[in-house]
Formats: sequence, structure tokens, C-alpha cells
Amino acid sequence: MNRDTICVQGGYHPKNGEPRQIPIIESTTFKYDTSEDMGKLFDLEADGYFYSRLQNPTCDYVAKKICELEGGTAAMLTSSGQAANFFALFNICNAGDHIVASSSIYGGTYNLIRVTMAKMGVKATFVSPCCTEAELNAAFTPETKCVFGETIANPALTVLDIETFAKAAHAHNVPLIVDNTFATPINCRPFAWGADIVTHSTTKYMDGHGAAVGGAIVDGGKFDWMAHAEKFPGLCTPDDSYHGITYAEKFGKEGAFIKKATAQLMRDFGSTPSPQSAFLLNLGLESLHVRMQRHCENGQAVAEFLASHPKIAYVNYCGLPKDPYHALAQKYLPHGSCGVVSFGLKGGRAAASTFMKHLKLAAIETHVADARTCCLNPASSTHRQMNDAELKTAGVPAELVRMSCGLESSADLIADIAQALDAVE
Ligand SMILES: *Cc1c(COP(=O)(O)O)cnc(C)c1O
Repeated sequence: MNRDTICVQGGYHPKNGEPRQIPIIESTTFKYDTSEDMGKLFDLEADGYFYSRLQNPTCDYVAKKICELEGGTAAMLTSSGQAANFFALFNICNAGDHIVASSSIYGGTYNLIRVTMAKMGVKATFVSPCCTEAELNAAFTPETKCVFGETIANPALTVLDIETFAKAAHAHNVPLIVDNTFATPINCRPFAWGADIVTHSTTKYMDGHGAAVGGAIVDGGKFDWMAHAEKFPGLCTPDDSYHGITYAEKFGKEGAFIKKATAQLMRDFGSTPSPQSAFLLNLGLESLHVRMQRHCENGQAVAEFLASHPKIAYVNYCGLPKDPYHALAQKYLPHGSCGVVSFGLKGGRAAASTFMKHLKLAAIETHVADARTCCLNPASSTHRQMNDAELKTAGVPAELVRMSCGLESSADLIADIAQALDAVE
């Protein structure tokens, strides 16, 4: 089915007389007639629910819809995008292992990999998202277990060359994990370009209304764990905590990754979404295809206006022909990228501050991908501890403003930006 139809009707198919809308199953636990019935669930011999820390029907309906949207074989929801990326990485990386990651990724994920996972004994090498194949291949070690990048990076707005990264990963017998939060499966399906696992912060466009924090992991079902069994003992050798089940044997390429992440990581870490949050996420998904189109139209209109304005020094938006990522965007994002635009004011940090103070529609928020337009000056908020030189190196110079274009009229957004720029000297 077409992705537009999956957004509306995917994941949940009520039978005769059942609720039309996904039911919110607010129950921590589930009732069984015999201990034998429940025992089968604990042995992973039967599918079913016994405790909502591991799985809940409402969450699974929504995970299934996201799975269908990405064209994957299995999926799970998590309590946040951070949990999704942590689970995706930690599901295959143990102490002593190594990750190759794009340096152009979300700050939270960068900290997770560089600081927190390092404390767990997992090392990482960061590479530029536009590095050469030789540079990329040089980043691998014998301990490398995966490659990680973002389709469109938050906040740098770089575009990942997914095919090149997938080729390098596969040449080293490891999977490529792609965080597809900003593009969403409406604008890019990373599995079609060779990615093996896709993650999401559903907090962003999928929810789309700033209502519920959440995440998702989807398996493309193509990576052959057993063919590289020595690299992935967690998937390819018996799990003592499940009577010696070997995930890759029992659940195959299509199911092993998500089964293990659910049975082990969700069981032990408990980063579970609430059924209520999953319900809200599904309301967002029902209109994702319609909303993405408008977010992209507004992003393009605002980027073009800014690029022609005398008080603007530069604009980052891959929909602009002059953008360094335009060619990659034409390949991977032919129908549009996202609604997030970043730009620098010629007047520097002070001009950015004046500009933002005078905006009436665009609110100052630590958020993106919401129905309501919002903006942020990283130098005075998320990156406040850095000095001007450090900000420049981090790719968020003091004058940079990140604007997430919402679903309002683009004429009103441009008028708001124009009057705020008039207030800048
Ligand atoms: C926001 C974001 C995250 C983290 O997601 P949360 O839902 O805030 O935990 C991860 N990756 C990207 C690309 C993001 O934009």
C-alpha cells in the first residue's frame, strides 16, 4: 500500500464490532487461565502480553504502523528517541566494541555515544558525513559492530550519503543504523538505500503536535547476523536468561533484532512508552503525509525568503540549489526534506537576539518539528557553555538561528520574519 494510506489505516485492523480507533489498553498486566499458558510467553514460545514493561497492545499497533511506513519487518516503540538510539546501539555493542558514527548528529546522541557509552566500554570514531570512502573505511577497527548516522542531521541539516555509508558498513560485515527522525518515512526510506536498522524520535514530526515524547526502532530484516555470528554473540549464541534461546536462529533475520531488544533491553532497562502516549503518537501519524508536505513547502518558502534578504549572511537548507547538500537531497529526498531551516544574521549574536525578540508567530522553544513554528539560538541556550570559537567548531556559530517551520500560512511566517528583521540594525 501507498505510504499515505498506511499513515491513515496501517498497523491496526479492527474486526467486526471492534473499536474503529486504536484502543488505549491501560493495563499493566494480562490474565491467563493456566500457568502453562503464561509459561509459553516467558519462554518466547508464544506471542502475547503479560506485563506492559515489555509489550503492550496499544504500543504494538503503533509500532506496526511505523514498521509498515518504513518497509521493515519488525518494530518497537520506546519511551523517547534517546532510548531508541541507545537500544539500537547497545543491542549489538558490548564492552570492548566500537561504533563508527557520523559527527553530524543530534547533540543528545553524540553525548550518548561519546560520553555515556564510552563509560560502558564502547568506543567510537566520528567521521564527517561527507568524508571520502577511504576516510570512512579507515575509521573501522576489528571491534566495530555498527555504523550510525542521521538522514538529515539535527541541527546541522547535513544529508547523509546513506548508500556510501551502507556500502562501507557491509564491506566490514556490520549493519548501518540510520536515525530517520527529520526526514520521516514520507520523505526517505533508508532501507531502500541499504540501511539495516532505522530509529526515530517520534517526539518530532511523527507526533507533530508537541504532545508526547517517544521513540521507535525498525528492523529492515536483511542483515544476516548468523553469517557474521562471531561479531554478534548476543544474537547468535544462546541467551541464558531465556533458557538458551538463540535469537538469530529462532526468529531469523526478520525478527531477531527487535525480539532481543524487547526481551532483554526493555525487560532490563524499562524504557517503555505509555499506551496513552502511543495513542497520541498514532493521531499524529494519521496526518503525517499531509503535514510533511506543508512543513516542506513552508521550509522552502522561508529559506528562499531568507536567502534573498540583505541582513542574512547564509542559509542552511538542502532544498536551496546553492546548498552543499542539494545534490544528495535530490537523490535521497526528491519530494522534500523537512521544515527546519537554519541561518546566520550578518549582525552576529546581538542581531540574532534582537531578531528573535521581535518575532510574534515563531516562539522561542527547545523543540522542532511541531505544528507551531518555533526557533532557537543554540549559542544562548543548548550550547550556552561554549565560547564563540567553540561554537564555530561545533557548527553552531553565535549568530545561528534554527527555525522549525510549522503548519501556518507561509505568507504569515514570512511577514513575521520580515518585520523582526526590520527591527535589527
Ligand atoms: C530529538 C532527537 C533525538 C532524541 O529524541 P527524544 O525523543 O528527545 O529523546 C534523537 N535524534 C534526533 C535526530 C532528534 O532530533
